[in-house]
Amino acid sequence: MSTLPADLLAARGRFSVEFSPAHDADGARRQWQAVRRLERLGPVFASVTYGAGGGSRDGTVELAGRLARESSVRPLAHVTAVGQPVADLRRVLDDLADAGVRDVLALRGDPDGDPSAPWVAHPDGLEHADELVRLAREHGARSVAVAAFPLGHPASRDLDADTRHLLGKLRAGADLAVAQLSLDVEDFLRLRDRLAAALAADGLDPVPLLPGLLPLTSRKVLDVAARLTGAPVPAWVADRLDPLGEDRDAFRAEGLRMALEGGRRLLDEGVPVLHLYSLNRSRAVTELVTELGLAAPGRVPAP
Ligand code: FAD
Repeated sequence: MSTLPADLLAARGRFSVEFSPAHDADGARRQWQAVRRLERLGPVFASVTYGAGGGSRDGTVELAGRLARESSVRPLAHVTAVGQPVADLRRVLDDLADAGVRDVLALRGDPDGDPSAPWVAHPDGLEHADELVRLAREHGARSVAVAAFPLGHPASRDLDADTRHLLGKLRAGADLAVAQLSLDVEDFLRLRDRLAAALAADGLDPVPLLPGLLPLTSRKVLDVAARLTGAPVPAWVADRLDPLGEDRDAFRAEGLRMALEGGRRLLDEGVPVLHLYSLNRSRAVTELVTELGLAAPGRVPAP
């Protein structure tokens, strides 16, 4: 099988999608229905998030493994270093490999309970994501992705330091980067340009960098987006959504329109693949993929 970066560089106007392990059997059933519907559209890969608790970690291995075994979708498993000694991280990487999952998104993660608390590494664990990149490579990962932050990671001193640390992760062996979701795609485009300039200055080859897009289909989803970006909702986004009050249909339609506008801008800028947050549902992603023409050649949405 080819490496993920090769697939991404070959893709033009396509999408990838993110899932999270479900909390219960009902959630898992609905999630798998979403997988089946989105599979029909031919995503380049599906990423599977990694939670703080042990059960949730097992859920990552389980869902990524099921994607590898039972679907045509290539899984990219997130792994974080939170609260785990290196020995446990090795076990997770082995479990993923045994489950047929060879592509990993290597993350430091955030402290359990309070993600904004200062980071404290496990005494026998890892300090930064670059160390997990090396560990994943040692374990034979085929492709290793890392996180990137359009607004800079909240703990970074400034954008220069942030870019340097991103380069450090790529030098450690990562071959693609996935950006935190953007409420304003201009933030992503600035990150893309910063990274391209830094790679060129160091004489390094370009690396695929994917933008994250979440259709704001409800106030609840907007809250999730604000929490993930860790920044205030841009004024122009609030100006468009706030007047819609409790009119859920109007909110959803406007949220989707904004995602379409953002997606079109990214594609016009030559971004080859959009990474879409599914929240374990298929409807909004299907609408975006259909409207933007992101399905793999010959693929159509399920009726
Ligand atoms: P790092 O790259 O280690 O960076 C953390 C901070 O340290 C940054 O300020 C960075 O600039 C700095 N830094 C990096 N390397 C060095 C170095 N060598 N020396 C000094 N400073 C350094 N969290 C989860 O718990 N589960 C998930 O599934 C998950 N998925 C994510 C997916 C994406 C696409 C993104 C963008 C984030 C995701 N996160 C997830 C959140 C992520 O774990 C947090 O944002 C975390 O705070 C940073 O992780 P990182 O891998 O970027 O850490």
